[in-house]
Amino acid sequence: MSERILTGIKPTGQLTLGNYIGVLRNLPKMTDRGECIFFIADLHALTLPIEPETLRQNSIDLASFYLAAGLDPKKVTLFLQSSVSEHAELNAIMQNYLYMGELSRMTQFKDKASKMNESAIGLGLFAYPVLMACDIILYDSDVIPVGEDQIQHVEITRDLVNRFNNRYGKVLNMPKYEIRKVGARIMSLSDPTVKMSKSDPKGDIFLKDDMKTVRKKIMSAVTDLGCEVKYDPENKPGISNLLTIYAAMKDISIEEAEKEFVGKRYGEFKTAVADAVIAELEPFQERYKQIVANKEYEAVLKEGAIKAKEMAHKTLVRVQEAVGLLKI
Ligand code: ATP
Ligand code: MG
Repeated sequence: MSERILTGIKPTGQLTLGNYIGVLRNLPKMTDRGECIFFIADLHALTLPIEPETLRQNSIDLASFYLAAGLDPKKVTLFLQSSVSEHAELNAIMQNYLYMGELSRMTQFKDKASKMNESAIGLGLFAYPVLMACDIILYDSDVIPVGEDQIQHVEITRDLVNRFNNRYGKVLNMPKYEIRKVGARIMSLSDPTVKMSKSDPKGDIFLKDDMKTVRKKIMSAVTDLGCEVKYDPENKPGISNLLTIYAAMKDISIEEAEKEFVGKRYGEFKTAVADAVIAELEPFQERYKQIVANKEYEAVLKEGAIKAKEMAHKTLVRVQEAVGLLKI
C-alpha cells in the first residue's frame, strides 16, 4: 500500500519564506510518492487571538498558496480542518490520553505562552498537541513532513498511539515525521538566532511581499563579523541562514552553495541570494494572484472536505468502538 503523507499549516498570519522552504515547496514532489492529505489548520489558528475577517482571509490565502506551490488538485486531498467535524470529535476522546505533565513540556506552548499574559492563555493553546495528534491519526497517516519546530508534536502523537494501542489493541496507525535536509529551520533575517515565524513577524520575508521589498530585506539582512561566506551556525548565524536559503532555492547542498561563494564578498553573496529567491517567488506570486482572482480554491476545498470526511469517519468509528462508545 502506498504511504499516506499528511501535513497542515495554520492560517495564523502571512506565510513566510520559512513556511515555503520548510514545507510548501516540497509538497508537489510528494504527490508522486504517496497519497497526499494536506490541510489548512484553521481550528488551530484559533489558539491565538485572531480577528474573524483575518482568519477568513488567511485561509483563502493559504489554500491559494498550496495550489500556487504547484499542487495538482487531482492528486491531493486539500481541505479546511474545520470542514471535517471528525477532527473535533476525535479530539474529545483523545484529550483523555495525553497528560497535563507532558503537554506542559511542549516547547511551542512554552514559547507562545511566555509571550502572553497568563490570564489570556487559552486551554486550546495548551491542548494544541491533542488536536494535532487527531489530525494525524484520523487519516492513518504514515509520514508527516514538517519543519524542525513540529518534531516534538509528532513525537507526542507517537506516544499517544503507543499508549492507545497498548490499551485497546492495534487501533491506530503509527506515524513518523520527515524533515528536509536543508531548510527545516529558516531563521529571522533581523535576528538569525530566532525562527522566522508568521505569528511573531520579525525579519520575515512574506510570500506576499513585492520583489523590491524582498530584495531590500535580503540585502539588509543581519550578517556576521568577518567576511567569509561560510556555514557556521554558531559563529555566523546570519550568513549560515542565507546560505541555507540559497541552497534550498537552488536545490543544492550547503557545501555546494558554500563552494559557489569562496572568495566572494557579503554584498555579492546577498545579491545572489536575492536573485535566487526572486526567481522562484515571482512566478509563484503570479500563480497565487490568478488562483485568488478565479477562486480556484473553492471547488478544490469542497471536494477535499468530502474525501477527507470519508477517510476520517472510518477512523473515528473504529476509535469510538474501541473505547466502548455504544454505536446504535
Ligand atoms: P506560527 O508562528 O503561527 O506558529 P509558523 O510560521 O511557525 O507560524 P506553522 O503554521 O506553525 O507556521 O507551521 C507550518 C509549517 O511550516 C510547519 O511544518 C512548520 O514546521 C513549518 N515552519 C514554520 N516555520 C518555519 C521555518 N522558519 N523554517 C522552516 N519551516 C518552518
Ligand atoms: Mg509554528
